[in-house]
Amino acid sequence: MTRRTKIVATLGPATDSPAVMDAIIAAGVDVVRLNLSHDTHERHRERVRLVRERALTTGQELAILIDLQGPKIRIGRFHDGAVELANGAAFAIDSDCLLADGDGTQVGTTYPELAQDVRPGDVLLLDDGAIELLVESVTGGRIACTVVSGGTLSNAKGINKKGGGLSAPALTDKDKADIRFAAEIGADYLAVSFVRSAEDVNLARELLRAAGGRGGIVAKIERAEALNCVDEIIQASDVIMVARGDLGVEIGDAKLPAVQKRLIKRARDLNRAAITATQMMQSMIDHAIPTRAEVFDVANAVLDGTDAVMLSAESSVGRFPVQVVEALDRVCVEAELHVTRSGHRLDSVFGRVDEAIAMAAMYTANHLGVKAIAALTETGATVKWMSRISSGIPIYAMSGSTETRRRARIFRGVYPLSFDEACQDVNLVNQAVIEELKRHGTVCDGDLVIITKGDRCGVEGQTNIMKIMRVGEHQVVERD
Ligand code: PGA
Ligand code: MN
Repeated sequence: MTRRTKIVATLGPATDSPAVMDAIIAAGVDVVRLNLSHDTHERHRERVRLVRERALTTGQELAILIDLQGPKIRIGRFHDGAVELANGAAFAIDSDCLLADGDGTQVGTTYPELAQDVRPGDVLLLDDGAIELLVESVTGGRIACTVVSGGTLSNAKGINKKGGGLSAPALTDKDKADIRFAAEIGADYLAVSFVRSAEDVNLARELLRAAGGRGGIVAKIERAEALNCVDEIIQASDVIMVARGDLGVEIGDAKLPAVQKRLIKRARDLNRAAITATQMMQSMIDHAIPTRAEVFDVANAVLDGTDAVMLSAESSVGRFPVQVVEALDRVCVEAELHVTRSGHRLDSVFGRVDEAIAMAAMYTANHLGVKAIAALTETGATVKWMSRISSGIPIYAMSGSTETRRRARIFRGVYPLSFDEACQDVNLVNQAVIEELKRHGTVCDGDLVIITKGDRCGVEGQTNIMKIMRVGEHQVVERD
C-alpha cells in the first residue's frame, strides 16, 4: 500500500549516523527538517551532506526543509541554573537585568523591547505555558509580575504572551544569515517562524531569492495575530505549518483542534499544502510505541486532510527515531483507508423521499449560510439523517412525540423541541415554527431558516417538503 500523507522528520543527534539515516529513509521519511534553533551551520552542513549522500545511495529523493528560529523570545539565565516560583510571589522580567544574572526575584530577557509590548493585566507564559505570570506594572524595561501558576523555572525558557501581540519582526538578523545558508545548501523549503502577515512571508521569499535560493516558503502559523489574516498568509506561501507548540501557548490548547482543521481546509481550498506539527508522537521520545491518543492525533490530522505530519524531538533527539517513523507510516496508511471523497454521501443512492429531503436540506444549509434547520418529524428519522452530515448548524427536531424528542437528543447537533403540528392551522405551520425558534432565541429577523415537513401532517415517513424562509418575511399566509 502506498502512503499518501507525507512524513517530515527533524534531524538531530539521534539521526546523525549513516545507519540511522538509512533506516529512517527506508521507513519512509519524505522531508527532513533542519531546525536552526539548534546547532551551528557547520553541523547542519554535515547533516545536509549525509542526507544527500544516503538518499543518493538508497535511490531516494528527499526534500530538505530549513526551519528558521525566528524571534523566539526567551528569559535569560539564573545564577544557579533554576529557581522555584511560588504561586502569589512577585517575579520580574527585567531587560536591565544581565542575561546571566537571574535569581528567585527577577530574570533578564533576550528581547529588550518586551516591556514596550506588555501592559498591566497581560499574561506572560513561560516554558510553553508551564509557568504563568500576571503583569502588575511596567517601569522602563522592568515588568513586575505576580506568579499565577508557579513551578521550577530554568535557564533560557521561551516567553509567550497570551493572546499574542508581541511586536518582534518575524526575521531576526540571525534568520537573515540563516536564509543565506538555506540558499547556499540548496534547501527545498524554507520555514519562516512566527509570521504575522503575508509581508513577512514575502520578505523571506525575497531574501531567499536574492541569495540565490529557489526553495518554497513554509509559513509557520504560531502567533495569535496570524489567525486574523490566514488567507493572505496562505496565499503568500507555498505551504503552511500548523505549529501547534507555540500556537497552543498563545491561543490556549483547547482552541487548537478547531484551528488545525480550519487551517488545513483553508490551505487546501486555496491550493496550498499543510504540515501538521509538534508533539504528534511525543511519548516516543522515550518509548518504542506511541500512546493510543497519539495514534488518534496522527490519524485525525490525516482525516483533516493534512499533506504531511511532522516529527520534532521524536526523531531529532528521541530514543526511537526509526520506530517513530514506522509508527507514523502505519497509522497514516490505515487512516487513509478511511478517507472518503466527501462526507456528503456523494456515492449513495437515497432509498426514501424523506432521506433525500434531509440530504438536500443539509447540502443547502451548508452552502447557503442557513441559521437553523427545523424538521417537523414524527419518528426522528429525518433529523438523524441530517445529523450524520457535518455542519455547525443546529437541527431542531420539532415533534409532538415525547419519545421521538428524547431519542433524538443523542444525535450530534440535534435539539428536540416540543411542537404539535396537528394542533396548528396547516396554513400557519411555517410561521408557528419560526415563532418557536425565535422564542428560543435561535433566530432573528433576516436569518435564513430551512423547514422540512410532510404535506400530510402528523404521518410517519412523509417528509417531502423543504422550505427556505427568511425570518421576518414569513407573515405571508401559505396556501398550498
Ligand atoms: P518550533 O515550531 O518547533 O520551531 O517551535 C513548531 C511549533 O511551534 O509548533
Ligand atoms: Mn514554534
